[in-house]
Amino acid sequence: MSYVITDICKGTCDTACVDVCPVDCIHGPFEKDDMGQGARDMKAEGKSIEGLQLYIDPEVCINCGACEPECPVDAIFEEDELPEEHNKSIIENAKFFTE
Ligand code: SF4
Ligand code: SF4
Repeated sequence: MSYVITDICKGTCDTACVDVCPVDCIHGPFEKDDMGQGARDMKAEGKSIEGLQLYIDPEVCINCGACEPECPVDAIFEEDELPEEHNKSIIENAKFFTE
């Protein structure tokens, strides 16, 4: 069981969740070892981050819940609490780290 970032994150990507994760398991939007820097850089350069989001590595997440309240757009859910329309996010988060 882990927390999951849904596509509600897309276009916001403000990385507040990254800063509070005790096990550094939130990554993206481009590289598996990037922790939001790519999105931060694009924002700083005034570029659009439309369609980009971060992902939680389900193999590393310890289910602590620290990230959830930090997200300004409520994009993060515990897997158990995930609204049905976001079910695909479980696969998408896992896929980001295995491809
Ligand atoms: S639940 Fe905890 S360990 Fe999992 S991604 Fe959020 S902050 Fe990190
Ligand atoms: S999940 Fe929320 S806090 Fe984390 S990067 Fe996306 S919008 Fe920001």
